[in-house]
Amino acid sequence: MASDTVTMDKIVALTKRRGFIFPTGEIYGGLGSTYDFAHYGVLLKTNVKNAWWQAMLQERDDIVALDSAILQHPKTWEASGHLAGFTDPLVQCLGECKRRFRADHLDEGQTTCPVCGGELSEPRDFNLMFETTMGPVKDAGATVYLRPETAQGIFVNFKNVLQTSRKKPPFGIAQVGKSFRNEITPGNFVFRTREFEQMEMEFFVPPDEAPRWYDYWKQARFDWYVELGLRPDHLRLREHDPDELSHYSSGTADIEYLFPIGWSELEGIANRGTFDLTQHSQHSGEKLEYFDQQTKERYIPAVIEPAAGADRATLAFLVDAYDEEEVNGETRTVLKLHPRLAPVKAAVLPLVRKDGQPEVGREIVDLLRRHMQVEYDEGGSIGKRYRRQDEIGTPYCVTVDHQTLEDRTVTVRDRDTLAQERVAIDALPGHLAGRLAAPWRSPKLG
Ligand code: ATP
Repeated sequence: MASDTVTMDKIVALTKRRGFIFPTGEIYGGLGSTYDFAHYGVLLKTNVKNAWWQAMLQERDDIVALDSAILQHPKTWEASGHLAGFTDPLVQCLGECKRRFRADHLDEGQTTCPVCGGELSEPRDFNLMFETTMGPVKDAGATVYLRPETAQGIFVNFKNVLQTSRKKPPFGIAQVGKSFRNEITPGNFVFRTREFEQMEMEFFVPPDEAPRWYDYWKQARFDWYVELGLRPDHLRLREHDPDELSHYSSGTADIEYLFPIGWSELEGIANRGTFDLTQHSQHSGEKLEYFDQQTKERYIPAVIEPAAGADRATLAFLVDAYDEEEVNGETRTVLKLHPRLAPVKAAVLPLVRKDGQPEVGREIVDLLRRHMQVEYDEGGSIGKRYRRQDEIGTPYCVTVDHQTLEDRTVTVRDRDTLAQERVAIDALPGHLAGRLAAPWRSPKLG
């Protein structure tokens, strides 16, 4: 296994320093475990989400998109079981520190506080849904919840989508959006926050095909992370033990990544059977089933769900990409991100801020920006500018020098190999597009 210098602290520091992720409300002292995405963080996370959409929509024709509301009808959460059962067992230290813990995160049977040694309270169920009020009157009828997952918005739209999409099982509905959970112990940067983005897809299949599609989606989702450059030796698929399974699930597996905090869930894939559509049928009185015209068969489809977190995936890509290495006696920090995910694809840098170089640089930026996210930078020494681009993971630096003014060529510096190549300005869009689309594997694999 490659030796890793990365720590969570280094990722937190780099993402703050370079403008990826800021703590929310920092000028007011911060709002615990809540983060704002800054320029490069937005570009990176958008690329992650777009890669997910591409795999779900563009590369196949059996999945359609949905963007349902964050505030769903309260009955949704009754039917789904979230109102009664979306709880974590909360224990509180009765001693000095008064800290709260998830009982299932402590050792079994533990009765003392792991921080101060005080006595722990009995566990009590704590519902993770955020409650708010709809309309001007605060009474029981006005209580609504911020969705704790995007999936239920898909199930309650099943009939509408079926009627309008001209799809039949097996087919899927995909959604990306914010979810909210009042986690007892958020933490580890954006790994676990109370407000986060999910990328979920519900795949509806004839019940007897569910085991096959469950296996299919476990593999497909694992491969997605590998294709986007995560090192395979830092990824694993862990099948849940029968006693870990939710009441509705006949199979759940986690794709886990070796974060600096250890192996942790990146995405869950579950065989949810017919639980969700059955529940919503019963609670709404609407038939949520499929009628097969050919076989004249009517059935409630089973559901296979790959559920990923956009923030958690972004963190995994950052962690996997982070590297420090010696170059000419100096340490450089570099994000070896897959070029598809890199926030900026190319930076245009005039060697000096004179002799017509800035003008040609700006001309090149205009040429490239129709094809990719580019950045122009003329401030500071060239070495400092390369280091800045390395730290935000820019795969290519295009440098304008005195020769450019003579023969209209520039150098293209490769982030990973540091090799420089001379390329004609006119050929630059095609040259970079070709290199960006070429197969890529993490240089950290050696
Ligand atoms: P965990 O066991 O980590 O609490 P979970 O099993 O409850 O997660 P799911 O309900 O399966 O998670 O959610 C699917 C995905 O959504 C997770 O794999 C993760 O990537 C993401 N996710 C869930 N909760 C959070 C959170 N609090 N912060 C960031 N991402 C989250």
